Amino acid sequence: MSSPIDPRSTVPDRLASAGGLSEGVARVLSRDTGLHEADIYGVGSFYHLLARPEARVRVCGGLSCQLAGSREILSACKAAGLPTEEISCLAACDRAPAVLRDRRTLPSVTVEDATRSAGKVEDLCSTDSETAWLGTIGPETQSMGTHALNLLGEPDWSAEAFKAANKMGPAALFDLLEESGLQGRGGAGFPAHIKWRAVAGQAVQKRYIVLNADEGEPGTFKDREVLMRRPDLVLEGLAIAAAATGASEVYLYLRGEFEVPSGVIAQAIAKLEETNRYPGITFHMHAGQGAYICGEETALLEALEGKRGMPRLKPPFPVEVGLWGKPTLVHNVETIAYIPGIVLKGGAWFKDLGRTEAGTKLYCISGHVQNPGTYELPLGISLDELVEAAGGYVGTLKAFSPGGASSGFLPASERGRALDFKGLGSIGSMLGSAGVVVLNDTVNMRWAAEEQLRFFEDESCGQCAPCRIGTHYLHAAVKGQEKSLGLAHVGDVAWQMNEGSICGLGQAAALPLTSALKYFPEDFS
Ligand code: SF4
Repeated sequence: MSSPIDPRSTVPDRLASAGGLSEGVARVLSRDTGLHEADIYGVGSFYHLLARPEARVRVCGGLSCQLAGSREILSACKAAGLPTEEISCLAACDRAPAVLRDRRTLPSVTVEDATRSAGKVEDLCSTDSETAWLGTIGPETQSMGTHALNLLGEPDWSAEAFKAANKMGPAALFDLLEESGLQGRGGAGFPAHIKWRAVAGQAVQKRYIVLNADEGEPGTFKDREVLMRRPDLVLEGLAIAAAATGASEVYLYLRGEFEVPSGVIAQAIAKLEETNRYPGITFHMHAGQGAYICGEETALLEALEGKRGMPRLKPPFPVEVGLWGKPTLVHNVETIAYIPGIVLKGGAWFKDLGRTEAGTKLYCISGHVQNPGTYELPLGISLDELVEAAGGYVGTLKAFSPGGASSGFLPASERGRALDFKGLGSIGSMLGSAGVVVLNDTVNMRWAAEEQLRFFEDESCGQCAPCRIGTHYLHAAVKGQEKSLGLAHVGDVAWQMNEGSICGLGQAAALPLTSALKYFPEDFS
């Protein structure tokens, strides 16, 4: 019997091309690769999109989708006989409630859509065109005009920035990045120029550039918009990074659920290759298979290498020992998309765009606001200013999450605080990827904390005990199922998770509960 599996790819790729993990596929793959079947199961069962191939309809369980009624959609899909399960945030909070049909995200699905499908997966919702998938960017973002980097505007395929960067040379380019004050936009806010210099300075000649487009932080969907609207900026930024750091191969790791953006990027790469726009640089695309933790850079590298996406111990950092053990520059989509603008307009120009910190920022906003969407605004604006750009609040503000689930909750009294890296860090929260979720006074914060804990328990990779056990314990405690210890010990558990976890997931997972207990104790009485 000939193998149905592409023999050139990694185990997750091969499982995906075979339709997911099953007994028969594991047997064939084991025979073809020489790996034990247990190893195939070990990898396949790690990824949501591979582990249960029979579930072809996945309803988003993120907070914004739940506020928009996703649990009703879940019930309606099940009642209609669709093979349905709940899934972690689909990066479509501005188009809530969202549903994944096979690998395509369907925005703004209704109960009627589910009922009308009469159990036929293909008939679930007709709004699946590329245009329907684009979110709101808001007139305020466009009106920034020359002040913005136009990350959400029209493509420009001139490659002027690539030529200018090459003329400038790596040393001057690194100085320019330092002058710009550009900090990574994936969540950590690490200065970009330090990573570029570190990769370029390695003795090992083989280096890689990796684009982290595994956008999964609940509340965050900006990278999806940039990939869809400005593939030119993303690819030019990557080409500049490759030329400056001495890399010839670029890997783009996109969420498996990003079928539409992946198509846009694939077309853009084909267009560049036709014209040999960036000579000597090869772009490889890779689809994730559904694991939030793969947004962590070392977990993403493990996944690219075909393994379970479990974060590595650091140091060594990827700039020294990265993809296949080689120096690797990993950047988030938004970070890399700023590079061409900085090259053409200057470091000081970019820095001055910010209010409290350097540059503009793509803020995502969803939940109880009039126009959920992505807004490019000066870094350091307040929640009230952001919501004003998004058309105003729906109801009375009670709480907000400034940077996704990992940032916890803040009370309405913080609405005037600058949404930046330092200011939010100083009050025990974080800007993260700036996925702002707004909650009005109809929301019970115990419920909101429970939903975030459920997410972290589901998405913990399980390799360190404080995170694996802690997320389970906290979720059970907030649900009232933990009889022996209860909420009185949340602080101790949170401390152990923070101190003993390898990566940011375990370190931050308690924050939704500890912050809700701190600011909204009345919701726990
Ligand atoms: Fe995995 Fe959690 Fe440990 Fe991170 S902290 S490596 S997600 S178990």
